[in-house]
Amino acid sequence: MEDVPIYLVPEQRFSVIDRPLGVLAWTSYFCDIQVSDRMRELGLWKGKGFATVIFLDRLSHSTRELRGAVLHEFAHYLTFPPRPESYSSLDATAANEWVAIANASADASKNDSPPWRNHDPEFVRAACHLAHRAKRLCDVASHNLSFSYWYYGCNEDVWMNTLRDELTSMASVPIRDILKTAPPSDFSTLARILTQN
Ligand SMILES: [Zn+2]
Repeated sequence: MEDVPIYLVPEQRFSVIDRPLGVLAWTSYFCDIQVSDRMRELGLWKGKGFATVIFLDRLSHSTRELRGAVLHEFAHYLTFPPRPESYSSLDATAANEWVAIANASADASKNDSPPWRNHDPEFVRAACHLAHRAKRLCDVASHNLSFSYWYYGCNEDVWMNTLRDELTSMASVPIRDILKTAPPSDFSTLARILTQN
């Protein structure tokens, strides 16, 4: 885990937050900034970092599901491009990202975008590493991170199997550093097959 603040706050505390249909959780490129004013009011603000909003009333009260939802959003955070050194308020781009990055299993059919929009193979690779590391620490299964089935139609473990050696050998390498390296050929082949449809 990176040395940055992590915020998990019930969305009921944020009157400005939208509730996209069918979404269990969301994050965005500027999610921490989006919630920062309210976090300051609550006395919880510790600086910029990873923030995600979890719609608790949509979860099945399963701890595994909650862990999976948070880790799914954290995988998005790991694949976001570097941010400018200084930024302090929302801009139009951030507003557009607001819903786009949401964990939306329901929105893929609304437009011509491929079903894996916002969940490309780089995101999947990050999620696989998170799932592997989380399983060592707590009770959570790969499918709880929901990084494949809704977007590619195959079980999460299919991807995990293509990274089996890397998941072990690079278990202590920062995931952002891993993403800068070429993935194993089995992973690339699977990604190519699944994104050709
Ligand atoms: Zn997502």
